[in-house]
Amino acid sequence: PVPAPVLAVKNLESYYGPIMAIRGVSLEVREGQIVTVLGANGAGKTTLMKTISGVMNPQKGNIFYGNDDIAGADPDKVVRAGIVHVPEGREVFPLLTVEENLGMGAFVRSDADGIRADQEMVYSYFPILAERRRQAAGTLSGGQQQMLAIGRGLMARPKLMLLDEPSLGLSPLLVKEIFAIIRRLNREQGVTMMLVEQNARVALEVADYGYVMELGRIVMADDAQRLLQSKDVQEFYLGVQ
Ligand code: ATP
Repeated sequence: PVPAPVLAVKNLESYYGPIMAIRGVSLEVREGQIVTVLGANGAGKTTLMKTISGVMNPQKGNIFYGNDDIAGADPDKVVRAGIVHVPEGREVFPLLTVEENLGMGAFVRSDADGIRADQEMVYSYFPILAERRRQAAGTLSGGQQQMLAIGRGLMARPKLMLLDEPSLGLSPLLVKEIFAIIRRLNREQGVTMMLVEQNARVALEVADYGYVMELGRIVMADDAQRLLQSKDVQEFYLGVQ
């Protein structure tokens, strides 16, 4: 049986001033799945995520989260509802320690015991963060900052996590490591994941379902394994001759 959609985006349109960056996008993210949105630079992937998380308001369309239409909702309301956005470029607070950054992720919660337990959960997935818990986040390597950004997102106890280019700027080895952890978090913590990536191969390898975006539109949608086999995807996104 196919799981129910957690998120259903319908005919979404988003603009920067007069520029239409999202041109009628519809997609679904089903419960427990990892869904990836592929696309070249400028395809609209970041704009799509910002619109879902409430950082940008759409001009048209719906974003159904369960039975609620959250299109245009305030970002903190979206977080409270259970959707957390881990932005591109690991925007951690550089002067705060690792632990303080994790604490910031729990801003919507007041259950001290649960927060402590989740902090330990994050450290169990990212042991290097436990070692560096008292260190300023700005002194971490790029890969460690990406781990911290994901860890901070987890501290809100999200039902759905939006990951913008988790592989950006990381070595191939680290990319593999991060994606393996994303998959474990999905399976073991039950976090549904939607990620946008230029690194198509690794993203499709962990994903259940995938969409391809070009110039603000969805141009392909299929099971991740089938997209990996697709001639067009291979030629344009996987660099296979
Ligand atoms: P990347 O992964 O590099 O961020 P993307 O697929 O996420 O690429 P977007 O950043 O969503 O693409 O950009 C979509 C379109 O909107 C592009 O044509 C881009 O030039 C335009 N755009 C993005 N940000 C702005 C902005 N602040 N003002 C005007 N246009 C913008």
